[in-house]
Amino acid sequence: YKAKVSRGGHHVFDSDDDSHGEIRLRTLEELRLALTEGQLVLHYQPKVDLGTGVVCDVEALVRWNHPTRGLLLPDQFISIVEEAGLMHSLTQVVLNQALDQAAVWQAQGHPLTIAVNLSASSLVDIELPDRIGAMIAARGLAPSTLALEITEEFLLNDRDRARGILTRLREQGIRISVDDFGTGYSSLAYLRDLPIDELKLDQSFVFPMAENERAATLVSSAIALAHSLGLRMVAEGVETGAAYDQLVGYGCDFAQGFHLSEPVSAATLDSWLAERRRTHAALVVEPAEV
Ligand code: C2E
Ligand code: MG
Ligand code: MG
Ligand code: MG
Repeated sequence: YKAKVSRGGHHVFDSDDDSHGEIRLRTLEELRLALTEGQLVLHYQPKVDLGTGVVCDVEALVRWNHPTRGLLLPDQFISIVEEAGLMHSLTQVVLNQALDQAAVWQAQGHPLTIAVNLSASSLVDIELPDRIGAMIAARGLAPSTLALEITEEFLLNDRDRARGILTRLREQGIRISVDDFGTGYSSLAYLRDLPIDELKLDQSFVFPMAENERAATLVSSAIALAHSLGLRMVAEGVETGAAYDQLVGYGCDFAQGFHLSEPVSAATLDSWLAERRRTHAALVVEPAEV
C-alpha cells in the first residue's frame, strides 16, 4: 500500500488509497470528534518586521492534538478534512480560536494581528464575510485584528465569486495575504485583479537564496514588484541569520521562519515575545491602537 511516514513516525495513508478505506473511515470518525471536542489547537508563528524588529503579526497554524497519535501537522489531516467536506467546520473552529486568542492578547495590552489560513473551498461560501464580521464584532475586536492567507488555488473555482468574497472581507478592514507566492500558475494575473494587501514569498525561493544567484534575483525582484504595487512582502522559511540579513538588504518587509521562532503554543509565544521585549527594548514598540 501507499503509505508515507510522517515526522511523528506514524503511517499516514494517502487519501486516494481505497484499499485502506477502513482506516480512513476511522480517521474520519476521529476527525469529527476532534472538531467537536476541542482536539484542534492553534500554534502561532511571529512575522518579524525587518525594518524595526517589531512583532505585530502572527500566523495561526492548526495542529491536531490526537489522543493516541500525538500532535499531528496539517499535512497529515487537512486533505482528509477537505475530502470529507468538513473544511467548513475546521475553518469555523480555527477562526473562533484565533479570534479568542486575539481578544486575550488585546486584553493583556499586547494586541497582535492574527493571520488565518483559508482553504480554497472556503472562498466559495458567500456568507463567509458576514459571518467573520459578526465573529469579530462579537469579541469587540477591530477587523484589522484579522488577516486571511489564501493561495491561488482558489482561482480554480469560481473566480468572480472568489473576488467578490475577498472584496467584501477587505472592505471590512481584514487584511488579505497571498500565501506561497510564486508557486502557482497565475500570479501576475491575480496581482492585476485581486484586492490584496500582502504577498508571502514561498520558502522554496528563500531556502536557496544564499547559494543561488538566480534564486536571489527572483527574491529581490519579487520584493520590488510587491512594493511597486503597494503590497507588503513577507518572506517565509527564514531559517538562518544570513537569510535574514540578505532579506533586510533587499528591503523585504517581514520575515517568518525557524531562525526567529517555530510555530508554538500561545503560552510559549507569550514568553518569546516577553523575552524579545526585554532584549529589544529600544526597538519594540507596541502597535498603535486601532
Ligand atoms: P503555510 O500557510 O504556507 O505555512 C507555512 C508552513 O511552513 C507551516 O507548516 C510552518 O510550520 C512551516 N515553516 C515556518 N517556518 C519555517 C522554516 O523556517 N522552515 C521550514 N522548513 N518550514 C517552516 P505547517 O504548520 O505544517 O502548515 C502547513 C500548511 O498547512 C500551511 O502552509 C497551510 O497551507 C496549511 N494550514 C495550516 N493551518 C491551517 C488552517 O488553519 N486552515 C487551513 N485551511 N490550512 C492550514
Ligand atoms: Mg500561511
Ligand atoms: Mg506559505
Ligand atoms: Mg504552504
